[in-house]
Amino acid sequence: MKFCSTCGASVSLRIPDGDNRERFVCTQCRTIHYQNPKIVAGSIPEWEGRILLCRRAIEPRYGRWTLPAGFMENHETTEQAAVRETREEAGADIRITSLYSVFSIPHISQVYMLFRAELLDGVFSAGEESLECALFDARTLPWEQLAFPVVGETLKRYFSDKAQNNGFPLQRGEILKHPRRD
Ligand SMILES: [Zn+2]
Repeated sequence: MKFCSTCGASVSLRIPDGDNRERFVCTQCRTIHYQNPKIVAGSIPEWEGRILLCRRAIEPRYGRWTLPAGFMENHETTEQAAVRETREEAGADIRITSLYSVFSIPHISQVYMLFRAELLDGVFSAGEESLECALFDARTLPWEQLAFPVVGETLKRYFSDKAQNNGFPLQRGEILKHPRRD
């Protein structure tokens, strides 16, 4: 950030009185510009035992597969965001079943909230941000071609829960920049 979005003057990075970390503070009107994590909401759309994935038509990770998900808009709920993103990216209407996974990704200041969902009618089509959409089970899923670690981690747990028929308990965790290999 270089300029104040309130008055247009330059900002400087400093610790405001009573705070404990650096913020962008306007040199003129003194507005403190707080920056906080963004929420990415999405769905795990299921149809006849398979999961709908989209192949990305945009960077980053062009050509890789992902769940329909995206940044929340102002004034919408997480569920509405998940439904909207699924319609936009996969041309599919869903009914949300339950919240499935919450993952923090601290190094990029994002939080993922992914919902279990059912396709209403099995209809889907690639939206503007997708090259194609397709249904996969655990065996056919392109595990090596997934766009983001959070998607792989969620799907791994999802298919494990599905195989164990254990009612899909809420999954939570974090995605680290340099995951340990073990
Ligand atoms: Zn200002």
